[in-house]
Amino acid sequence: MTNASAYVLGGPDIKTYYFDGAPDGTVCPGCGSCLDRSYSPATLDLKEARRYDFGNTQDLQPLFSKPFVDMINDLSGQRLAANAIQGSRGYFHLVVTETVEFDAQRRKTKFGPPCDVCGRVKWIAGATPAFLICNQIPPNGIFRTDLEFGGQNGRAPLLILGKELKEKIESRRFPGIYFDDAYCAGDKYKADKVH
Ligand SMILES: [Zn+2]
Repeated sequence: MTNASAYVLGGPDIKTYYFDGAPDGTVCPGCGSCLDRSYSPATLDLKEARRYDFGNTQDLQPLFSKPFVDMINDLSGQRLAANAIQGSRGYFHLVVTETVEFDAQRRKTKFGPPCDVCGRVKWIAGATPAFLICNQIPPNGIFRTDLEFGGQNGRAPLLILGKELKEKIESRRFPGIYFDDAYCAGDKYKADKVH
Protein backbone atom coordinates (compact mmCIF):
# COMPACT_ATOMS: atom_id res chain seq x y z
CA MET A 1 0.00 0.00 0.00
CA THR A 2 1.39 3.34 -0.98
CA ASN A 3 0.21 6.88 -0.35
CA ALA A 4 2.56 9.43 -1.86
CA SER A 5 1.54 12.94 -0.84
CA ALA A 6 3.87 14.86 -3.18
CA TYR A 7 5.10 14.62 -6.75
CA VAL A 8 8.17 15.01 -8.92
CA LEU A 9 7.78 17.15 -12.04
CA GLY A 10 9.02 15.36 -15.16
CA GLY A 11 9.22 16.55 -18.74
CA PRO A 12 10.46 15.66 -22.21
CA ASP A 13 14.04 15.72 -23.41
CA ILE A 14 14.36 18.88 -25.43
CA LYS A 15 17.44 17.68 -27.25
CA THR A 16 19.85 20.49 -26.67
CA TYR A 17 22.78 21.09 -24.30
CA TYR A 18 22.58 23.98 -21.87
CA PHE A 19 26.29 24.04 -21.02
CA ASP A 20 27.70 23.52 -24.54
CA GLY A 21 30.16 26.30 -25.25
CA ALA A 22 30.16 27.52 -21.64
CA PRO A 23 33.42 29.17 -20.57
CA ASP A 24 35.96 27.23 -18.48
CA GLY A 25 34.97 27.25 -14.85
CA THR A 26 31.23 26.98 -15.50
CA VAL A 27 31.14 23.18 -15.20
CA CYS A 28 33.69 21.02 -13.37
CA PRO A 29 35.71 19.07 -15.97
CA GLY A 30 36.12 16.21 -13.49
CA CYS A 31 32.49 15.49 -12.58
CA GLY A 32 30.12 17.74 -14.54
CA SER A 33 28.93 19.72 -11.51
CA CYS A 34 27.81 23.25 -12.29
CA LEU A 35 30.22 25.63 -10.55
CA ASP A 36 28.64 28.89 -11.71
CA ARG A 37 24.89 29.01 -11.20
CA SER A 38 24.72 32.48 -12.73
CA TYR A 39 25.66 31.06 -16.16
CA SER A 40 23.08 31.37 -18.93
CA PRO A 41 23.89 30.51 -22.56
CA ALA A 42 23.89 33.33 -25.08
CA THR A 43 22.23 31.07 -27.65
CA LEU A 44 20.42 27.78 -27.34
CA ASP A 45 18.90 25.50 -29.94
CA LEU A 46 15.22 25.56 -28.99
CA LYS A 47 13.63 23.77 -31.95
CA GLU A 48 12.43 20.95 -29.73
CA ALA A 49 11.81 23.12 -26.66
CA ARG A 50 9.28 25.25 -28.50
CA ARG A 51 6.96 22.26 -28.70
CA TYR A 52 6.67 22.19 -24.92
CA ASP A 53 6.11 24.40 -21.91
CA PHE A 54 8.52 22.44 -19.78
CA GLY A 55 11.37 20.09 -20.55
CA ASN A 56 14.93 19.18 -19.69
CA THR A 57 18.06 19.73 -21.75
CA GLN A 58 20.30 16.73 -22.37
CA ASP A 59 22.52 17.95 -19.55
CA LEU A 60 19.42 17.98 -17.33
CA GLN A 61 18.72 21.68 -17.02
CA PRO A 62 15.02 22.50 -16.75
CA LEU A 63 13.56 24.97 -19.23
CA PHE A 64 10.18 26.54 -18.64
CA SER A 65 8.11 28.69 -20.95
CA LYS A 66 7.12 32.07 -19.60
CA PRO A 67 3.40 31.11 -19.42
CA PHE A 68 4.36 28.03 -17.39
CA VAL A 69 6.46 30.10 -14.96
CA ASP A 70 3.63 32.64 -14.64
CA MET A 71 1.14 29.85 -13.99
CA ILE A 72 3.27 28.29 -11.26
CA ASN A 73 3.80 31.68 -9.64
CA ASP A 74 0.05 32.36 -9.69
CA LEU A 75 -0.87 28.95 -8.32
CA SER A 76 1.87 28.52 -5.75
CA GLY A 77 2.18 32.09 -4.50
CA GLN A 78 5.94 31.56 -4.65
CA ARG A 79 8.14 33.74 -6.77
CA LEU A 80 10.33 31.57 -8.91
CA ALA A 81 13.59 32.97 -10.16
CA ALA A 82 13.35 32.73 -13.93
CA ASN A 83 16.29 34.04 -15.88
CA ALA A 84 15.50 34.86 -19.48
CA ILE A 85 17.92 33.13 -21.81
CA GLN A 86 19.24 35.49 -24.42
CA GLY A 87 17.62 34.77 -27.77
CA SER A 88 15.31 32.14 -26.29
CA ARG A 89 12.07 33.73 -27.41
CA GLY A 90 10.24 33.38 -24.16
CA TYR A 91 11.95 30.32 -22.78
CA PHE A 92 13.43 30.54 -19.36
CA HIS A 93 15.86 28.62 -17.24
CA LEU A 94 14.16 28.25 -13.92
CA VAL A 95 15.89 28.25 -10.58
CA VAL A 96 13.70 26.90 -7.81
CA THR A 97 15.29 28.24 -4.66
CA GLU A 98 13.28 26.66 -1.86
CA THR A 99 14.93 23.41 -0.87
CA VAL A 100 13.60 20.20 0.60
CA GLU A 101 15.86 17.53 2.06
CA PHE A 102 16.01 14.22 0.19
CA ASP A 103 15.99 11.02 2.26
CA ALA A 104 18.92 9.19 0.66
CA GLN A 105 18.90 6.48 3.28
CA ARG A 106 15.26 5.49 2.76
CA ARG A 107 15.68 5.61 -1.04
CA LYS A 108 18.99 3.73 -0.85
CA THR A 109 20.54 6.42 -3.05
CA LYS A 110 24.12 5.70 -4.09
CA PHE A 111 26.99 8.20 -4.06
CA GLY A 112 30.14 8.10 -6.18
CA PRO A 113 33.66 8.84 -4.93
CA PRO A 114 34.82 12.43 -4.46
CA CYS A 115 35.85 14.34 -7.59
CA ASP A 116 39.61 14.96 -7.84
CA VAL A 117 39.01 18.45 -9.22
CA CYS A 118 36.25 20.00 -7.09
CA GLY A 119 35.71 17.58 -4.23
CA ARG A 120 31.98 17.02 -4.89
CA VAL A 121 30.79 13.44 -5.25
CA LYS A 122 31.25 12.27 -8.85
CA TRP A 123 27.71 11.00 -9.20
CA ILE A 124 24.48 10.47 -7.28
CA ALA A 125 22.13 7.71 -8.45
CA GLY A 126 18.68 6.71 -7.21
CA ALA A 127 16.24 9.62 -7.41
CA THR A 128 12.75 8.24 -8.03
CA PRO A 129 10.45 7.33 -6.53
CA ALA A 130 11.53 10.20 -4.34
CA PHE A 131 11.69 10.12 -0.55
CA LEU A 132 11.75 13.32 1.44
CA ILE A 133 12.69 13.93 5.05
CA CYS A 134 9.99 16.57 5.60
CA ASN A 135 6.55 15.66 7.00
CA GLN A 136 4.63 17.32 4.19
CA ILE A 137 4.90 19.52 1.11
CA PRO A 138 2.48 22.49 1.12
CA PRO A 139 -0.33 21.62 -1.36
CA ASN A 140 0.60 24.46 -3.73
CA GLY A 141 4.32 24.47 -3.05
CA ILE A 142 7.24 23.87 -5.40
CA PHE A 143 10.68 22.93 -4.09
CA ARG A 144 14.00 21.53 -5.29
CA THR A 145 15.76 18.68 -3.54
CA ASP A 146 19.02 19.43 -1.77
CA LEU A 147 20.69 16.58 -3.71
CA GLU A 148 21.49 16.93 -7.42
CA PHE A 149 21.19 13.61 -9.22
CA GLY A 150 23.25 12.48 -12.18
CA GLY A 151 26.93 12.71 -13.01
CA GLN A 152 29.38 13.76 -15.67
CA ASN A 153 26.76 14.34 -18.36
CA GLY A 154 24.47 16.48 -16.26
CA ARG A 155 23.00 16.76 -12.81
CA ALA A 156 19.91 18.31 -11.43
CA PRO A 157 17.80 18.35 -8.32
CA LEU A 158 14.30 16.91 -8.48
CA LEU A 159 11.52 19.47 -8.64
CA ILE A 160 8.94 18.58 -5.99
CA LEU A 161 5.31 19.69 -6.18
CA GLY A 162 2.50 19.66 -3.65
CA LYS A 163 -0.63 17.68 -4.51
CA GLU A 164 -2.88 20.60 -5.49
CA LEU A 165 -0.27 22.26 -7.66
CA LYS A 166 0.35 18.93 -9.40
CA GLU A 167 -3.37 18.45 -10.03
CA LYS A 168 -3.77 21.97 -11.42
CA ILE A 169 -0.84 21.51 -13.81
CA GLU A 170 -2.17 18.09 -14.80
CA SER A 171 -5.62 19.52 -15.57
CA ARG A 172 -4.10 21.86 -18.16
CA ARG A 173 -2.74 18.93 -20.15
CA PHE A 174 0.64 20.32 -21.10
CA PRO A 175 2.24 18.01 -23.67
CA GLY A 176 5.08 15.86 -22.41
CA ILE A 177 4.72 16.66 -18.72
CA TYR A 178 4.49 13.74 -16.32
CA PHE A 179 4.74 13.13 -12.59
CA ASP A 180 6.52 10.64 -10.37
CA ASP A 181 5.57 9.94 -6.78
CA ALA A 182 7.37 11.61 -3.90
CA TYR A 183 6.96 10.25 -0.38
CA CYS A 184 7.18 12.43 2.69
CA ALA A 185 8.36 11.05 6.02
CA GLY A 186 4.95 9.72 7.08
CA ASP A 187 3.84 8.38 3.66
CA LYS A 188 3.77 4.63 3.15
CA TYR A 189 5.65 3.03 0.26
CA LYS A 190 4.91 -0.69 -0.12
CA ALA A 191 7.05 -2.21 2.61
CA ASP A 192 9.77 0.30 1.76
CA LYS A 193 11.44 -2.36 -0.35
CA VAL A 194 13.34 -0.19 -2.78
CA HIS A 195 15.99 -1.64 -5.01
ZN1 LIG B 1 34.17 17.99 -9.91
